[in-house]
Amino acid sequence: MQTAAYAAATSRAPLAPMMIDRRDPGPDDVVIDILFSGICHSDIHQARSEWGPALFPLVPGHEIVGRVSKVGANVKKLVVGDLAGVGCMVDSCRTCEPCAEDHEQFCEAGTAWTYNGTEMDRKTPTFGGYAQHIVVRERFVAKVPAGLDPASAAPLMCAGITTYSPLVQWGCKAGTRVGVVGLGGLGHMGVKIAAAMGAEVTMLSTSAGKAADAQRLGAAHFALTSDRAQMKPLARHFDLIINTVSAQHDYADYLRLLRPYGVMAVVGVPPEKVPVSANALINGNKRLAGSSIGGMAETQQMLEFCATHELGADVEIIAAKQINEAYERTIKGDVRYRFSIDASTFAQ
Ligand code: NAP
Ligand code: ZN
Ligand code: ZN
Repeated sequence: MQTAAYAAATSRAPLAPMMIDRRDPGPDDVVIDILFSGICHSDIHQARSEWGPALFPLVPGHEIVGRVSKVGANVKKLVVGDLAGVGCMVDSCRTCEPCAEDHEQFCEAGTAWTYNGTEMDRKTPTFGGYAQHIVVRERFVAKVPAGLDPASAAPLMCAGITTYSPLVQWGCKAGTRVGVVGLGGLGHMGVKIAAAMGAEVTMLSTSAGKAADAQRLGAAHFALTSDRAQMKPLARHFDLIINTVSAQHDYADYLRLLRPYGVMAVVGVPPEKVPVSANALINGNKRLAGSSIGGMAETQQMLEFCATHELGADVEIIAAKQINEAYERTIKGDVRYRFSIDASTFAQ
């Protein structure tokens, strides 16, 4: 099957229309007619080879929601007509220890990423969700619960799970003092989810103009990180910080805001290495942790949580031809708070 997509031909080329092949569905596969695809900052990092050389042509997109249009004979979880979500992974070995423990993102054989990777045959390149259709193994397709709007649910498949998972891992609950650094796609979901868990959330942002939005999204407090007067009272304040910053910055600026034994979970991936001094960790037994998306079982739990709490991303719906402009606006922090591409506009 051929499907209309948007692809980057090289790390310097803007994204442009391209027809791509999708495999015929096998017995374990689900065919999805894509409705919306979110734009994650990881799409930009990879389309521009900021994390090392990417595989081109590259069709980004790992925040996918669509309607199931066909299922293979062995598929049990989904039927034609269901609303389905696909995130950062499309396959894994399914048998190694991490896979058996539902952490497919750490598959020992190497996860098959939704794009900029290969299928498990290690030959066939994968193409992401900036397209009209996708074919994905059932295990890597989530069921989108009733009540979630497709355009705002698409970003949950990466931004949602990437912030939900460390909040769960580090025991966020009523009264936990959570700081979220960076109010972009991940950050705005982090605020919403942490607030729904009952946490006292503070938004730590470089953008003064986002203060009102932070409160609307559920933050109790807002601090402009460039203003020393606002940052000083926050020293030793937080139990948990979720750091979503996509660009170079100093982790020590945020580690000093942790209480003793506090945790900073890093989810943002600046292209450059970030140096950390031992003393910034030792004084106060601070923990610096990382977190990579979440497994498929946890992704399904996150969707149920979002449906229960009526959470979705705040999206600006765009047409495919606006993708390049949306990339520039995302880099400038000028997105409120996720671009969601209307997949009907990929048709040529
Ligand atoms: P985004 O929408 O561009 O948001 C990033 C935010 O970081 C910006 O809105 C801005 O917020 C802040 N920021 C940007 N430059 C900054 C700087 N120099 N100093 C301080 N703050 C800065 O990006 P996103 O889609 O949320 O993704 C964020 C990062 O997470 C990316 O690196 C992405 O690749 C990564 N990611 C990781 C995972 C994972 O599994 N760990 C999953 C998805 C994405 P303010 O205006 O509020 O300061
Ligand atoms: Zn992502
Ligand atoms: Zn595995």
